[in-house]
Amino acid sequence: MISFKKIRNLFRSATARLALSYLAIIMLMSIGFSTVFFFASAHELGRPPRQYNAASQDTDDHPHIERDPLVREYLEERAAEGRHVLLIRLVALNVITLAAGGMLSYYLARRTLEPIEANMEAQAQFVSDASHELRTPLTALQTTNEVALRKPKLPEAAARELIGHNVAEVAKLQALTDGLLRLARQDGKDLARVPVSLQAISSDAINAFLGAAQDKRMAIEDATPDLKVLGDQPSLARAVGILLDNAIKYSPEKSKIIITGSRSGKHGLISVTDHGQGIATRDLPHIFDRFYRADQSRTSSYADGYGIGLALAKKIVHQHDGEIVATSTPGKGSIFTISLPLA
Ligand code: ADP
Repeated sequence: MISFKKIRNLFRSATARLALSYLAIIMLMSIGFSTVFFFASAHELGRPPRQYNAASQDTDDHPHIERDPLVREYLEERAAEGRHVLLIRLVALNVITLAAGGMLSYYLARRTLEPIEANMEAQAQFVSDASHELRTPLTALQTTNEVALRKPKLPEAAARELIGHNVAEVAKLQALTDGLLRLARQDGKDLARVPVSLQAISSDAINAFLGAAQDKRMAIEDATPDLKVLGDQPSLARAVGILLDNAIKYSPEKSKIIITGSRSGKHGLISVTDHGQGIATRDLPHIFDRFYRADQSRTSSYADGYGIGLALAKKIVHQHDGEIVATSTPGKGSIFTISLPLA
């Protein structure tokens, strides 16, 4: 796996190479123009003044002035002096171009490569986080299987229990890889931003999680108004679905979840309110970070998720130029609100 230090070194040398290429182009043009300018001007300087040019006739009153050796010498001296001054000025101009061009080239090269570097670092961070998350359940799986294999005899009941455990672990790994894939795919997704009603978004989300709510005998109250926002309905339904899924997971049986909507300036708001365990103040700023799980849910050994859901919801909302915020009272419940530009 490519480390951050390697990426930084790679970009440092790429920036230097790109800056040098820009500088080479600038200097080639500057020296090229200077050379042409110098020879054209030197040629002009070497010519006699126009009124005395070779075409004019020698007359007794006006002898050709160029024939006068003194004048000739004077003109040649003036031309040589002019060429010298011109050369010095052009060299000075090129030195200034080199210094200014060097700085400009470096600035342009940084500007070109910075977004690519940030992107590569984000990808490396993602791969590193993902491998770390995958390692934990894989190690658990390996350990339980090795322990079972070391036993000289494995009764059928124990073997069945082990296989059952393996299947459950594999299902969790699958959920994790699915989540990772969704997160990665969402990045390059071209979202169609069309007018879509908040009601349509919430009813799609509710349909997806109705079964889970019924399993916990929870009621979902849908009070979303028919307000139209700009967005991609399936993606927005997924984002609201993530909030609904969490509300179900982190609330007690038979409790109530309410989905509401309203208008705030140029934005439409959709909120999911639960009456569950709530989120501690110290966790609240981090819950939208990838792989972050609040302390109490860590102890449930990845039974409920891997801390990918809210990161994905945030990504979707940001792709819509929207915002997602959470407020919570530990022990009482949480409110997650998504704001989206109105259609
Ligand atoms: P997970 O898959 O762990 O649910 P999320 O990214 O969806 O991942 O959520 C991150 C963490 O935020 C959860 O582990 C949980 O601790 C906390 N959280 C999210 N939603 C709620 C909620 N409605 N009530 C209480 N805690 C929540």
